Amino acid sequence: MVGLDAKKDFPVFDQRIHGHPLVYLDSGASAQKPRCVLDAMTRFYETDYANIHRGVHELSQRATAHYDEGRRAVQRFLNAAHEDEIVFTSGATDAINLVAASWGRTFLKAGDEIVLTQLEHHANIVPWQLLQEQIGFTIRVAPIQSNGEVLLADVTALFNEKTKLVSVTHVSNALGTILPVEKIIAAAHAKNIPVLIDGSQAVSHGSVDVQKMDADFYVFSGHKIYGPTGIGALYGKRAILKTMPPYQGGGDMIESVTFEKTTYQEPPMRFEAGTPPIAEVVGLAAALDYVAGIGMEKIAAHEADLLAYGTEKLAALDGVRLVGTAPHKASILSFVVEGVHPHDVGTILDQQGIAIRAGHHCAQPAMEALGLMATVRVSLGLYNTRGDIDALVDGLKKVREIFS
Ligand code: PMP
Repeated sequence: MVGLDAKKDFPVFDQRIHGHPLVYLDSGASAQKPRCVLDAMTRFYETDYANIHRGVHELSQRATAHYDEGRRAVQRFLNAAHEDEIVFTSGATDAINLVAASWGRTFLKAGDEIVLTQLEHHANIVPWQLLQEQIGFTIRVAPIQSNGEVLLADVTALFNEKTKLVSVTHVSNALGTILPVEKIIAAAHAKNIPVLIDGSQAVSHGSVDVQKMDADFYVFSGHKIYGPTGIGALYGKRAILKTMPPYQGGGDMIESVTFEKTTYQEPPMRFEAGTPPIAEVVGLAAALDYVAGIGMEKIAAHEADLLAYGTEKLAALDGVRLVGTAPHKASILSFVVEGVHPHDVGTILDQQGIAIRAGHHCAQPAMEALGLMATVRVSLGLYNTRGDIDALVDGLKKVREIFS
């Protein structure tokens, strides 16, 4: 077992919930924040805060330096080749909407096809549907197996000369399945099809290398990797970003404005209209520093141990059925408790200080494919321990007693 003892870094654990120590098993929805992230943001507001780019004064220059350093922190984190390949967005949802509104509206035509999977989060379905209503392309959907796996062959079987984009999740938020994204990208590139990877559930559980993976677009949200809300990033290959028009107009994204003709900045500024979430960039950079300080490999090994331990313990519980048992999984355990609605499971666990999520997890097509309305979802973070899993198991025994 690889031991990580990180709870002490997170102030949220210095409290009791309904009289119990907090057992936080909802990091897939949003992760808790370490003290260093909160301190970095407070320090920035207290000493260096001003608007960026437009000021000659000291504070504006300091704030701009923080913002630019934040971009380099994301570049390092994803191993992007160039700093200008990182566009700050408000999160993964915003990043996918950016690609749909800019790249999609420019390059997709009626009669084209794009490929998604049945496992996608609504954030990687609905932006494409909104665009589809305007353009009239076809969305083709690769199915999932009953164990929650997506087979490479089921994705590539949908490729043809009309396919213009593949947009798939790296890790399923509902089931934890890790998709074979490198192989999907290689197969798509063999047919000159660009690929967007939704990394929302992947970045916090292991290292990501967008160059090695060869993704054309990669998106993630800061709040799921121990950073603040309201900040995320779109990685896009430089050559592709340069072909994309702005999707929002305003300050900072222009080169010059006249009523006759306005010209735009190069990427990434072209896509960052208006005052950005500056303190949130500072917080995100601190979060990326924090995980890098621990080491993504160490975090991955720690969480793999917890996932194996949790899988074994839950599988042994009477009346509990795991949903999503793909061979390659990351940090998520979805399950149903016989005869008990997932929301009731959540409420009873909450009374014991245990935070889990119950519902369709913004992945209704995946739930429907598995014949379910909802599951209970446990999602792990680097601060979780085997003790947290033991508390969950005790909590579930209580749920079973109450409903027996
Ligand atoms: N994709 C996946 C796989 C997710 O898990 C989530 C968040 N649950 C999103 C996209 C959207 O992220 P956000 O709400 O932070 O934009």
